[in-house]
Amino acid sequence: MNWREQVRKVEPYTPGEQPKEQNVIKLNTNENPYGPSGKVKECIQDFDLLRKYPDPTAGDLVNALADYHGVSAEQIFVGVGSDDVLGMAFLTFFQSECPILFPDITYSFYPVWAELYRIPYQTIALDEDYQIHASDYHRENGGIVFPNPNAPTGQLLPISEVEDIIRANRDQVVIVDEAYIDFAPEGSSALSLVDRYDNLLVVRTFSKSRSMAGLRIGYAIGQKELISYMQAVKYSYNSYTMNRPSILYGCASVKDEEYFRETIRKIISTRERFTAALESRGFSVVPSSANFVFAGHPGISAETIFRKAKEKGIYFRYFRLPRIDDHLRITIGTDEEMDRVLEFLHEEFNL
Ligand SMILES: *Cc1c(COP(=O)(O)O)cnc(C)c1O
Repeated sequence: MNWREQVRKVEPYTPGEQPKEQNVIKLNTNENPYGPSGKVKECIQDFDLLRKYPDPTAGDLVNALADYHGVSAEQIFVGVGSDDVLGMAFLTFFQSECPILFPDITYSFYPVWAELYRIPYQTIALDEDYQIHASDYHRENGGIVFPNPNAPTGQLLPISEVEDIIRANRDQVVIVDEAYIDFAPEGSSALSLVDRYDNLLVVRTFSKSRSMAGLRIGYAIGQKELISYMQAVKYSYNSYTMNRPSILYGCASVKDEEYFRETIRKIISTRERFTAALESRGFSVVPSSANFVFAGHPGISAETIFRKAKEKGIYFRYFRLPRIDDHLRITIGTDEEMDRVLEFLHEEFNL
């Protein structure tokens, strides 16, 4: 057999564009317009930091996160962005011959990991309003994963429905990807359920609410036993994934609660103002609990707006996919940036 027939062939995930030009309004990958905490900047001087190997357990960061969330250090798994954490979780927990389940419209990395690890999967359709229904997940499966709030819709599944899915699938691992939960109302997180369900893994990231997408920090919280299985897989693959700057800057971010709350408050307020402005211009906007909105206009195609905006140096995310090709995903930037978007819509489309 030729070696080409034995290659693990995969169709990779396509991330949003990172334009090279300066001075663009970049609202296409859900980065946070406000930089990381000033406390992070204060520790950026330490050059000698790079010389030595990091602590493979990333103990300082794990302890900081354990304190922050009021759980034990053994309940925390850290990784290089939540993509690393999610990839490890797929590899660790999804081994059944039964398909894993996730929504048809969701984070487009899930099918990529499933293909990479040869995990059978089945997608469950969101309803007409892009909502998840817990009862659709009452069926035989090999595990479940969904973001809450969902991406790219921004829609939040109430915690009672999240619990219903976890409760109905106690023999499978349920992964709740909370990349955007800090922008949702208080009480929405599945973290409050971790003590009660040994099959629940909650995944978080520093990339959105903590403004540190460039650093790559993600983590998962679950019961001790669940986390221990992920650790064993990780230490069988690459022990030194968390570099020393990540550990140091990550800790500094976690310790600046005031700044964190302030930037989130600003983004939520801009999101509400921008949503109302889009609606008054005839857009339909999916109710968002995230740092982006998912919106479409009945009179102008999303692709037209996307292309025209790009010409003008404004980047949105557009998915040429069934059911969502009439929508744009627009990250919430600063108030000034969102005003520029509204001006653009007025100038180009008279909206
Ligand atoms: C952004 C995002 C991630 C990945 O974030 P990292 O930068 O890898 O931490 C994971 N899940 C969803 C739903 C996201 O939107």
